[in-house]
Amino acid sequence: MSILNNAIESIQLGMEDFHNDDPRRVQSAIRNLYAGILLLFKYKLQQLSPEGSDEVLLKTKIIPTINPTTGIVVWVGKGKKTVEVHDISERLTALGITNIEWNRLSTLQSIRNNIEHYFSTLPAERMKEAVANSLHLIIQFCEPYLGQQPVDILGQECWELMLNEATIYDAELQSCRGNLESVNWPFPEVGESIPKMRCPECDSELLRVTNTQAIRNDINFLCSSCQEEFTYPQIVGPAISEAMAGRNHWRVKDGDQAVTGDCPECGEDTFLLDHNECASCFYELEYTECEWCGESLVLEDQYLEGTCGYCQNRYDRIMAE
Ligand SMILES: [Zn+2]
Ligand SMILES: [Zn+2]
Ligand SMILES: [Zn+2]
Repeated sequence: MSILNNAIESIQLGMEDFHNDDPRRVQSAIRNLYAGILLLFKYKLQQLSPEGSDEVLLKTKIIPTINPTTGIVVWVGKGKKTVEVHDISERLTALGITNIEWNRLSTLQSIRNNIEHYFSTLPAERMKEAVANSLHLIIQFCEPYLGQQPVDILGQECWELMLNEATIYDAELQSCRGNLESVNWPFPEVGESIPKMRCPECDSELLRVTNTQAIRNDINFLCSSCQEEFTYPQIVGPAISEAMAGRNHWRVKDGDQAVTGDCPECGEDTFLLDHNECASCFYELEYTECEWCGESLVLEDQYLEGTCGYCQNRYDRIMAE
C-alpha cells in the first residue's frame, strides 16, 4: 500500500507548491507531480507482480530462476533499480492497460527535464500543461485500472485544484488549435503536423499564428506561453519531420516512396515527395526531366544535375571504355 500512499502524497505536495511564485517551489511542484504520477503507475506494476517474484514488474533487471519445489522457471526482480517511463508504459500496455495517452507522460517527463534549464523562468503555462497532462493520465488510469475515483484517491482540495488548472489550460490549448486549424496551410501535411508544433524557445504547444489569413512564408507564429514570435520554417520544419517519421517508416516498409526526404535547400527532412516541394522552405526541384531521355527526375536524381541515373550510368560506362 505504501507506493500508492507515496504517489498520493507526491501529487498533493506538487499541487500545494503550484501556486507559489518562489522558483524553487515551481521546481519542486513539477518534480513532485511527475514523481507522483510515475508512482501511481508503479503501484499497478507492483500489484500485478506475482507473489514471491520480488516485485518483478517494478525492476529494471529481471532474471529467471527455478522454483526448487515445483521445478518451474519463474522470473524475479534483481537489484534496486526500478523501471523508467519507457518500461512502465511498455509493461502496462503488454498487461492490458490500454487507452492511456502515454505521450502525455513523455511530455510530463520533458517538462520535468526542462526545469533545470528554465530554473527561474519556467513559464506559468508550462506548469499548467504539466498539471493538465497529469490530470488526464489520472482520469484515464484511476477509475478503470485502480477501481477508484480520482477525487477519492487525491482528496477534494487537491483534485479541484488540478481540475481548475487543467480546465483553463485545455481551453487555451483548444483556442490555439482552433486558430491553427483555421489557417490555409500550403500542404495538407502541414495541417496534419499541428499536434507536433512546439515553441522552439520554451517547448510549449500553445502556438497560434498572428494572422490566420496569411499564406505560405508570410505565416508567423506567436507562443502564448513565452510570447516569442517565430517564422513559418522555425515551427513547421521540425513539426513536419517529427509528424511524418512514422508514416515514412510504414510507407518504406510497404515498398512505397516515403512522404518526406532531406531538402537540398534547407537541410530539413521536409521535402514532400508527393508534391515535389519542401513544406518548410518551398524549394522546388531544380531538374525535373532527364536532358537525354526525358524521364521525370525525382529528389534523389538532383545531384546528377539534369540527367537520370540510368543515362548517367550508361554515359559513365561508355566514357570508361
Ligand atoms: Zn514559448
Ligand atoms: Zn527546404
Ligand atoms: Zn535519362
